Amino acid sequence: MKKAEPFVSTTNACKMCTPLGAAMAFKGLEGCVPFLHGSQGCATYMRRYIISHFREPMDIASSSLGEKDAVYGGKANLMQGLLNVIGKYKAPAVGIATTCLTETIGDDVPTILHEFKKECLAELNGDMPALIHCSTPSYGGSHMEGFHAAVRAMVAQLADPATEKHGGINLFSGFISPEDIRHLQDVFAHFGLPVALLPDYSETLDGPALEDYQNIPGGGTPLDAVRAMPGAGASIEFGRTIKPERSAGAVLRDKYGVPLYSLGLPIGLRESDALFTTLETLAGCAAPRRCALERGRLLDAMVDGHKYVAGKKAVIYGEEDMAVGLTSFLSEIGVKPVLVASGGESGLLSEAVAAVTGEFPGDPPLVRDGVDFYQIVAEAEALEPDLVVGNSKGYRELARAHDIPLIRVGFPIHDRFGSQRVLHLGYRGALNLYDLIVNALIEKKQDDSPVGYGYI
Ligand code: SF4
Repeated sequence: MKKAEPFVSTTNACKMCTPLGAAMAFKGLEGCVPFLHGSQGCATYMRRYIISHFREPMDIASSSLGEKDAVYGGKANLMQGLLNVIGKYKAPAVGIATTCLTETIGDDVPTILHEFKKECLAELNGDMPALIHCSTPSYGGSHMEGFHAAVRAMVAQLADPATEKHGGINLFSGFISPEDIRHLQDVFAHFGLPVALLPDYSETLDGPALEDYQNIPGGGTPLDAVRAMPGAGASIEFGRTIKPERSAGAVLRDKYGVPLYSLGLPIGLRESDALFTTLETLAGCAAPRRCALERGRLLDAMVDGHKYVAGKKAVIYGEEDMAVGLTSFLSEIGVKPVLVASGGESGLLSEAVAAVTGEFPGDPPLVRDGVDFYQIVAEAEALEPDLVVGNSKGYRELARAHDIPLIRVGFPIHDRFGSQRVLHLGYRGALNLYDLIVNALIEKKQDDSPVGYGYI
């Protein structure tokens, strides 16, 4: 009999918990309060994680289950919790995600919500908010499974089949920064394309300073825009590692015949070109001059900065689609990705990395999915990278311990200011990343040199 490998517990996971991703997505629906069916501790951890990155208030309600409820079920808590939240927030929508506890005890949330609507409608004076729910056991995936599950649930449960055709575009842009969302909206506006971008937390998680605290911050994808999605002319969905069963765009395609354009997260030149080519097709016109100029500036920067980046080796980690986009970008600027790692386990990471690196000479990068930082550091040490690119979770054991510059991207970034305003997408985002990378390498060279070079 084969001897079992000694069990090693996860050490500094390279992913976050599944309902955290769902809470993020629900935060991008106008007026929606994220609600966790589980214990208080889960909601507290997620609030802390999200607030530290966005530096904005993040309310996540909870059904606050205790030991007794773990034995007898959480139905009573879920119903009472919903009544409390609806009463306190007057929210037009509540996004309910399950946790490890309620998934393990097997609470039947759809049935409980069905009963809640019947039993509590009178108590709410007939004013029942939209109740959207998704199943998000954290032992079944990463925060990205939760994010996609919530986006798909919003579409599947809110879309109105009776919507008339309106020709707008649905955009499922994935887990990106508020700055990325604003940039995408600008790009669509330049093309003259009406867009329903879901989820839009560009204001709810990066809003202006206000005199008074608002229970529900302004912004978010309007509920009516989601309801009208079956009438769109097309959907665009970012992410090379989204399986069809997790895709919101696939719901609209399969149920309502809305054509779906599945693209990689538009990071770098080629993935952004794919987006702009799609927009040209949908808009029936060439990209506006300002977009063409941004592309030209990116190419100009690539020429100017090539001497600093050429031949450098990089380790990339984080959520799978962000890692794929970054790998694509680094490959095209002459940096050699030597390791691409993620805690996610879609099973599609290797294929996606091969698709964006295949045309470049040399050995392909090592690809590791389902790994934690203990494993990433162990692999990275032998590869001697010049650069690491990922979220702030890799700072201590990888970047600091081995004195390698870290380019902070994605989520979470807990040790820098302005994390919500990091621009990753489009030609402009690529230019921003390029400047960060070149300057990090220059700074490292200066720090390592006994000579105080003022010109590099
Ligand atoms: S118990 Fe599960 S749902 Fe709760 S914080 Fe931990 S991983 Fe997330």
